[in-house]
Amino acid sequence: MSQPMRGGPMGRGFLTEEEKANRPRVTGALLKRVFSYLKPYWKQLALILAAIAMSSLLGLYPSILTGRIIDEGLIGRSLSALIKLILLSLGVTLLSSLISVGQNYLNTWIAQHIAFDMRNKMYAHLQRMSQRFFTANNQGDIITRMTSDISGVERVITSTFTSILSNVITLIAALVIMYRQNWVLATIGVLVVPLFIIPTRSAGKTRWSLTRESQECNDQVNGILNETLSVSGQLLVKLFGKEQAEYERYRSANERMVKLNIKESMAGRWFFMVIQTFSSIGPMALYLVGGILMMKYDQSISVGDITVMVTMLGRLYGPVNNLLNMQVEWIRSMAMFTRIFEYFDLPVEIENAPDAITPDSCDGSVIFSHVGFSYEPEREILHNISFTLKAGHSVAIVGPSGSGKSTIINLIPRLYDTKFGTVYFGGHDVKKLDLGFLRKNVGIVSQETYLFNGTIRENLLYAKPDATEEELIEACKQANIYDFVLKQPEGLDAMVGNRGLKLSGGEKQRLSIARVLLKDPVLLIFDEATSALDSISEAKIQEAIEPIIQNRTSILIAHRLSTILAADEILVVKDGVICERGVHADLVKAGGTYTELYETQFKKALEKAEG
Ligand code: ATP
Repeated sequence: MSQPMRGGPMGRGFLTEEEKANRPRVTGALLKRVFSYLKPYWKQLALILAAIAMSSLLGLYPSILTGRIIDEGLIGRSLSALIKLILLSLGVTLLSSLISVGQNYLNTWIAQHIAFDMRNKMYAHLQRMSQRFFTANNQGDIITRMTSDISGVERVITSTFTSILSNVITLIAALVIMYRQNWVLATIGVLVVPLFIIPTRSAGKTRWSLTRESQECNDQVNGILNETLSVSGQLLVKLFGKEQAEYERYRSANERMVKLNIKESMAGRWFFMVIQTFSSIGPMALYLVGGILMMKYDQSISVGDITVMVTMLGRLYGPVNNLLNMQVEWIRSMAMFTRIFEYFDLPVEIENAPDAITPDSCDGSVIFSHVGFSYEPEREILHNISFTLKAGHSVAIVGPSGSGKSTIINLIPRLYDTKFGTVYFGGHDVKKLDLGFLRKNVGIVSQETYLFNGTIRENLLYAKPDATEEELIEACKQANIYDFVLKQPEGLDAMVGNRGLKLSGGEKQRLSIARVLLKDPVLLIFDEATSALDSISEAKIQEAIEPIIQNRTSILIAHRLSTILAADEILVVKDGVICERGVHADLVKAGGTYTELYETQFKKALEKAEG
């Protein structure tokens, strides 16, 4: 999987080799891809283009009228001409502004729609990413891409794109008007322009590297916030007394961000100062040369002509200045697109096979045939796992912590794919089954129960949106949580709190059992929580589980003897291998890993519960 681009260390004012390598390469393919997002809106874009051209040209017209106001109105001492020209100038300005308003509306409309398309596409793409992606990537990073990068794209379309167009049009029109007016004066004005270019270049480079760094810093700050301001994160911070350490970590990231932001905003300021100085040299040179020409050589040049040239020069510097500055914006925008496309290009690791099958029925049987698996290439977690679970039967998987029990079950609904061997579900290779079908038929009650912040009812309906009240109640009864629901003043409409944290561990587990029962999967997998529950909670879960697995194909990752005894067969997993299998009575006598687990864990737990 390609990793997001990374910049160099923070706070440097120059580009490192790595950063240089990370500058977005503006290739034809990249541009084509960017424009593919604009394509559906080409009619609106054409309208914008026309509006920009009109408002830029109309915007220049008052400058030309200024010359006539001076020559015909003021110097010619004609009040009627003066009033007429002033009204015309005001009218043109008004019209140009009105067009700009319409153009702004269209712009925002397109930008919002493109961002809308991108966000949806990105969300849908991320939904298809594997568990591996979400375990390996920082949540802050993912959210920044979804939010600030895509908002950046919005900005590109509303400002960068239109600015480039309107500046180019204004620039060309101003040049044409100036040269038509007087080529000598026009050339003098134009000669000062190249002086802008040199400082812009270096400012552009510095700003690019700073932008990248501040984006990264932003990711980092988001990451810290996500980690430490979540319920479990805060719990960890509090219990380990890490408030000060986390505060320091946040403070230093925050401080780095402030420094970078200040640096970023200051980069280029000094060069604006240079530009400002140059831009005042131009008009003065025009007054001087124009004055000399008018007084000594060319009687036809009027005061109005010189004034028009000077105002036009102002109109020329504006766009040049903007366009050069735009280079930074352009690079920044391309970087943003590159970052977004990087995510779009992440391969979807687990997806439907082109010829995926959706069987009419499924018996829920599972076969593991010589399965090997690793999360990371160099460390194999499962080795040669083979077992058969017949339809209607149940199997308990036991073994020491970290032996690979959860990993085995993750391979059934294809949260991960096997590296070697094959997993069959209902007689079909899971890789050949339609993913939707597979996941609909496999239900997992995981160790870490996740509930959304909402009511009990909302959490249950997640599994079956059209469940009736009776079905909800029946599922709660079967999961042994109905007593609890009845005790709530709001019943099923009681809130479960952020991630279900208003409920106890046992209540959460039972609620998630009710949820999976509503889903009614053919195969039920129960990953029993290792966390200690009190004996009453355990008994309640047990009471719920036993009848459920009686008539359903099920896999139980078991830590408690009562759960193990409820299964038809026991698989003992150690270091990623099935080392023993059979029934309790035989295994306990065998004197192997199971006996050891029995002596150290199950028996004690049993005695405790009984005691
Ligand atoms: P427990 O009983 O504690 O839940 P388990 O037997 O279910 O343990 P697994 O969760 O399957 O164990 O983990 C098996 C091994 O795989 C462990 O060594 C663990 O560190 C590793 N592992 C689990 N998930 C990942 C992951 N996403 N990336 C890398 N390694 C992982």
